[in-house]
Amino acid sequence: MQNSPTDGPAGLKFDCQRTYSPARRKPRIRILALLLITAILPLHSADEKHIMIYAPGVSFSLPVSDHDGREYVGLLECIEPLGNVTTRIDGARWKVRFNNADSEFTVGKNRAKLRGHDLDFPGIFLLDNGRGLVPLVSLGTLLPRILDKPVSFNPLSRRLFVGNVATHLTAQLSHTTPPRLVMNFTSPVNPTIATEPGRLRMTFTREPLVAPGSPTLTFDDKSIPSATYTENNGSAELVVNGAVPLMASFSNEGRTITVAPAPQQPAAPVAGTPAAPGTPSPPVSKTPAVAPAAPRHYYAVVDPSHGGDDRGVALSDTLAEKDVTLTLARRLRQELEARGIPTLVLRDTDTNPSLDDRAAMTNTAHPTIYIALHAASDGKGARLYTALLPVGVENNGPFLAWDTAQTSFLLVSRAAAQGIAGEFQRRQISVRTLPAPLRPLNNVTSAAIAVEVAPPGGDVMDLNLPAYQQNIASAVATAVAAMRGQLGGGQ
Ligand SMILES: [Zn+2]
Repeated sequence: MQNSPTDGPAGLKFDCQRTYSPARRKPRIRILALLLITAILPLHSADEKHIMIYAPGVSFSLPVSDHDGREYVGLLECIEPLGNVTTRIDGARWKVRFNNADSEFTVGKNRAKLRGHDLDFPGIFLLDNGRGLVPLVSLGTLLPRILDKPVSFNPLSRRLFVGNVATHLTAQLSHTTPPRLVMNFTSPVNPTIATEPGRLRMTFTREPLVAPGSPTLTFDDKSIPSATYTENNGSAELVVNGAVPLMASFSNEGRTITVAPAPQQPAAPVAGTPAAPGTPSPPVSKTPAVAPAAPRHYYAVVDPSHGGDDRGVALSDTLAEKDVTLTLARRLRQELEARGIPTLVLRDTDTNPSLDDRAAMTNTAHPTIYIALHAASDGKGARLYTALLPVGVENNGPFLAWDTAQTSFLLVSRAAAQGIAGEFQRRQISVRTLPAPLRPLNNVTSAAIAVEVAPPGGDVMDLNLPAYQQNIASAVATAVAAMRGQLGGGQ
C-alpha cells in the first residue's frame, strides 16, 4: 500500500497546517511536521492503552501511543524479549538485527526491507528519540517476517500471540444440585476474580486465553444461565452470569475452574437493627462470595496499601508510602513463612488494585487473617486498626452484605489486633489499637486488621530502615503465629 493523503500525515487536522496546501506539500515537509508533532506530544500520556504479547515462556505488556490518529508501538520493545536484538540508526534509516537477520525501516515510509524482501505495511514508520515506532495494526504483517514465526494478532483487543501459545477453554454445566459450571483450560490459569451482584468476573491478563467457539455460552440452568467471553486492551474476560451469588474454585493445578452457587454465609447481625439477645439474626441472602481452594492455601494475606498512581502519603520528596508498604509486605511475608504460615502478598509490584479487588482477592484466597499495611509520617510506632462498620444502614439491597461482610469476624479481628499490640509492647514499640472506617477492612470475610507504621523517632526516613521494618514484621509474625489456635486454622 502506498502512502495516501488519508493514511499519511496529511490526514492530520491541526490548525497550524491550514497554511499549507495539503495536496501540494512536499513529503519532506510533511515528515518534518510529523516529527515536530511527535516531539511535542508526550509518548506515554495518561492514555493507558497497551498491547499484550504472548510468546512461549514469556508474556509482556507494552504501552500503545497515538500518533496522527493511529496507534503506534515500539518495535524494538516488541521483539527484544524474544531473541537477540541490536539496532542502528543511519540517517532516516532504522536498522534492526534479530537473531542475525536484518530488517530496515525508513522514517515516513510504509515499506520495509525484511530478511532481504521488500514489504509494505499499513501506516508509516516513525522515529522518536531513536525509538522506532510502527503502527500497531502493522504488527500482524511485520512480526511473522522479523521473527520468522507464525503470529496471530487481534488489533482490536490488542493481543498478539507468537507461535503456538494459545490456552483454550471448554465449559460444561453439570445439572447437579446445586449446578456446577466446570471450565477446563489447556494450561494453568490464575485470573483475577471479582464478584458483583448477578455476575462473577474472571480477568485473564498473563494467560494467552483465546475465545471459545462462541463468545456467549448459554446453559440450560436457572441459577447459571450464561457466560460471556470478551477481550479488550490486552486482556480477556470471562463473565459468568448468575441468578444467585456465585463462587469460583480452582483445582487440577489451575487447569480447572468450577463456578457454583455460593453457600449461605453464616448469619450476620445487621448493624443498627435491634435484635433481641439470643435471637438468631436473619440470614444475609446476597453475600457475594468467592471460593476457597486456590491452588495453594494461604493462612495470611498481606496487602501493601496504595501502589501505582496512588502513591499514598508523600513521606518525603523521595519516599512514598506505597514503596514503604511494599518492602514491609515482603519482609512480613518472609517472617510469616519462616514461621510456617503460608502468605499471599496482594501486590508484589507497583500496581494499584482497587479496594474492591483487594477484598475480592482476599476473600477468594480465604485466609484466616488479612493484614493491610500503611505508613504514616506523623506519630510514633504503630497503630492497629480494625473495621468501624457503618451504623444505622438499612438493609435495602445486595450491597449491604458486601459493605458489612466483616461483621461476623469483628471479634476475631479485635482479638488479632490485641495480640499484635501485646507483642509490640513486649518489644518497646509504642502502639495504639482503634477502630476506623478504613476500607477494605469492612469487605473482608476473615479476621482483618490494618497496621499503620510511623517512624520510630522523629525522622520519617527511618521508616525505610531495614532493621526497623524487620522488627515490625517480626513482631506481627510472632503474634500471628502465637494466635494460631485462637484465630482458627483457616477454612
Ligand atoms: Zn495509607
